[in-house]
Amino acid sequence: MNTYSSLDSIKNAIKTNETNCLSLTKFYITQIEKNKHLNAFVEVFEKEAIERSKAIDEKIANKTAGKLAGMVIGIKDNICYKNHKSSAASKMLSDFESLYNATVVERLLNEDAIIIGRLNCDEFAMGSTNENSVYGPAKNPIDNSKVPGGSSGGAATAVAANLCLAALGSDTGGSIRQPASFCGAVGLKPTYARVSRFGLIAFASSFDQIGPITNTVEDAAILLEVIAGKDDYDSTSSSKKVESYSELKATKPKKIAYFSEALQMEGLDKEVKATIENQISALRKEGNIVEPVSFPYLDYLVPTYYVISTAEASSNLARYDGVHYGYRSKNAENLDSTYTQTRTSGFGKEVQRRIMLGTFVLSAGYHDAYYTKAQKMRRLVQEKTNEILEEYDFILSPTTPHTAFEIGRKVKNPIAMYLEDIFTVLANLSGNPAISLPLSKNSNGMPFGTQLMAKPFHEAELLNFSHQTINSL
Ligand code: GLN
Repeated sequence: MNTYSSLDSIKNAIKTNETNCLSLTKFYITQIEKNKHLNAFVEVFEKEAIERSKAIDEKIANKTAGKLAGMVIGIKDNICYKNHKSSAASKMLSDFESLYNATVVERLLNEDAIIIGRLNCDEFAMGSTNENSVYGPAKNPIDNSKVPGGSSGGAATAVAANLCLAALGSDTGGSIRQPASFCGAVGLKPTYARVSRFGLIAFASSFDQIGPITNTVEDAAILLEVIAGKDDYDSTSSSKKVESYSELKATKPKKIAYFSEALQMEGLDKEVKATIENQISALRKEGNIVEPVSFPYLDYLVPTYYVISTAEASSNLARYDGVHYGYRSKNAENLDSTYTQTRTSGFGKEVQRRIMLGTFVLSAGYHDAYYTKAQKMRRLVQEKTNEILEEYDFILSPTTPHTAFEIGRKVKNPIAMYLEDIFTVLANLSGNPAISLPLSKNSNGMPFGTQLMAKPFHEAELLNFSHQTINSL
C-alpha cells in the first residue's frame, strides 16, 4: 500500500478509489504491530477503529462525511475518551476509565476522525524524554537508542514512524514542540485558551494546551481548526472566532526577531546554531527582515517555569488520594496511610519530585521568595515578549538546544533535563502560540526543528508563514 503523509493526499486517494478508510486503518494497525519495539502506543482501539472506518467509508460514499474523514489519529494518554482508559502514563490512573469525552475528542469524532489508540507519554506529562512512563520509554524512530523527546514522545514517534497520520499531544512547557523537533515532525502549541482543556488531565493549568503533531503544516492547520474554539466546559477557553486555518494563504515578507543571547548561549549545539544562522540568511534572501533583539530574561525562563508549573501541579495532583480516583495502595489501613501509601507507590519519582518542589514553593515561609517572585518574573517575561511582538511578526529560535539524547542519559540529572526546555517554555509562560518545524538533521542523522512564535491568537498568520517557508527550509 502507498503511504500518505497528509490528509489531503489521503482524500485524493480516496476520491480515486486508490484507498479507503478501512484499508488505511488496517494499514496503520499493521504498522503499529510491526513497530511494537517503539512503544509508541499504550493501547490500540483496533476493533472499534475498524468498525468506525467502515461507517466513515459509507459516509464518504453518501457525501455526508466530516472534514477529518480519512484521518487516522492517535491521542496522548492524558486526553480523556469516553469509556476508554486514560492513565497519563501513571500507575495512579492505570485502571481509570473516562466517563466523558474531552472536548477535543468530541470535536475530532464530530468531524469523522478515526481515533486509533492512546499514546505513550511522560507520567502526567512531566518530562522531556518519555522515560517517566509507567509503560516504559517510547523510542526515537530514527535511532532507537535515543529518546523521542517528551512528554508527548509516543505521539511524535507514532507520526514520524507512520503508525498513524497525526496525533494530539499537550504542551505545558514544550511537550508538543520538543518531541516534534526530536523526531522530525511539525508540532503546534496554540495560544493559551485557544483550545479547550476540558478532559485533559491537568498538569499546570495556566500553561496546559492541547495541540497537533503532524507531518505537514496543512494537517496541523486543519486539526487546529477542528479542535479550537469556545467551550462551555472550560471557562478559560476564548470566545474569539476560530479562523479558517486550513485555507492557507500566501504571505508577504515578515519581520522576524531572534534573541541574540540565545544564539550565543554556551549550551547550544554547534550544528544547531550553524543551521539556524543559515536559516536566518535564507529568510533574509526571501525578503524577510530578520533582526537580533536583546532578551535579558533568557536565564530566568526555566526557573520561572519550574517554580510556577510545579506549584500548580502540586495542587492539581492533590486529588489523587486513593479515594476519588484510580489506584489505592493495598497497604492502606486508615485515612493517613491511604494517602501516603497510595501516593508513595502510585506516583513515579519525577512526579513526586515536582509535588515536593511545588509544595515547597507554596509553603507559608517561602511563598513570597519563590512563588510570588516567579509570578512577577512571568509578568516581566510576558511584557517583554509582547513588546518585541509589537514590532515583529514572529520570534525565531531553535526548538531545543540539542538533538535527541541517548535513553538513560539525562534522566539521572533532572536539572540538566529542565535546562533543555529553555526555548520552549517562553511560549507557555507568555501564552503565545508557537510552532516547531523540521529544520534539518545533524551529522548523525538526528532531526531538529526551528521554532516560530507569534502574537496571541495569530495562529493563521503563523501557519500561513510556516507553510510557505517549510518548503524552503
Ligand atoms: N519538559 C517540560 C516539563 O517537564 C514540559 C512538559 C510539558 O510540556 N508537558 O515540565
